[in-house]
Amino acid sequence: MSYDVNAIRADFPILDRKVNGKPLVYFDNAATSQTPRCVVDDIDDTYYHTKANVHRGVHTLSQEATAAMEESRECARRFINAASTDEIIFTRGTTEALNLVASSYGSLLSPGDEIILTVMEHHSNIVPWQLLASRSGVVIKVVPCDDRGVLDLDAYRSLFTGRTRLVSVAHVSNVLGTVNPVAEMARIAHEHGAVICVDGAQAVSHLKVDVRGIGADFYAFSSHKMYGPTATGILYGRRELLEAMPPYQGGGEMIGHVSFGGTTWADLPYKFEAGTPDFVGAAALKEAIEYMERIGIDAIAAHEHELLEYATEGMLTVPGLRIYGTAPGKAAVISFLIGTAHHYDTGILLDQLGIAVRTGHHCAQPLMERFGIEGTVRASFAAYNTREEVDSFIAALRRVAAMLV
Ligand SMILES: *Cc1c(COP(=O)(O)O)cnc(C)c1O
Repeated sequence: MSYDVNAIRADFPILDRKVNGKPLVYFDNAATSQTPRCVVDDIDDTYYHTKANVHRGVHTLSQEATAAMEESRECARRFINAASTDEIIFTRGTTEALNLVASSYGSLLSPGDEIILTVMEHHSNIVPWQLLASRSGVVIKVVPCDDRGVLDLDAYRSLFTGRTRLVSVAHVSNVLGTVNPVAEMARIAHEHGAVICVDGAQAVSHLKVDVRGIGADFYAFSSHKMYGPTATGILYGRRELLEAMPPYQGGGEMIGHVSFGGTTWADLPYKFEAGTPDFVGAAALKEAIEYMERIGIDAIAAHEHELLEYATEGMLTVPGLRIYGTAPGKAAVISFLIGTAHHYDTGILLDQLGIAVRTGHHCAQPLMERFGIEGTVRASFAAYNTREEVDSFIAALRRVAAMLV
């Protein structure tokens, strides 16, 4: 069966719009992907026909809303191959999921305990650990990468000591596209008695994720980067760990029994879901997962890879253009600079031509420092992007190079 990109594009009404009089070319998918009609329809349908608070009501609407959210939880479990829905926690997104781990699992660590991060982490996988370090005296160590953006695994191994308790690493870098060897990193962490938390924000829409195959103890991702609604995400955690961890936030839904003499917690996963969740978005995550599965994650990955190769080849013919991130097997994210042109100016000129890219430090300032730059321009592809869009992009880059360099 061939890949019908036009049929896919027809599912995304936004792709028909113009920007500055030009057809939109949306290459900012690593920041957020667009949303297909089936997901928006599901949200609409909930608001129009079944909206009721979950897990509380005996009435029909509440039961329907609860069932929809729990079906989505089961869908997410299957999607990442977790053992049980007890291990699937709905969050606001990757950021909240990582804060949950840093705060709750982090509270079990002692002063002088060590955690290992990498130089290519997103700020949301750095700052929560720094907050923990300043509260509790935990020590942070950082794995370096080479000029291609490949992590130095020898350095990684050498960072372990008798005090190492946790590793937290991006599955796929949002700047370089590097796909990190998380299964191997997990094995090494486990050999040293440490747990591993994987930031999957850039992975889940581009490759098949199997949390048990990886050996991940925690795995975090956001719905809005995988064709789903905003403000919804998942934290997977291994049951034994989640059971030993204290609640992250207190409130409704997460309790067993409340009294001023002492309160008990709800069972997993509800212990970590205080307050009314975004149950509309949580339910719609299922539509996004099923949408990707109908196309096929492998088919999406192959399509994106072809665009990546085609775009990379074309970009390298643009005078003065340098690509940051050349790891073998990288995902469809291309960070670049042209000559001495400022990334911001390049982004503005591309926008004039209808092309949406991201510019700046991409929430990865330590990585920018590693490469001795302040920021890059980043193009990132999704299931609905085309070779024709890449052609327009390369033509636009030539104009930028002629104007700015
Ligand atoms: C986007 C992103 C995050 C943060 O995700 P939110 O949806 O903003 O919470 C974390 N890590 C990586 C690698 C990302 O790309």
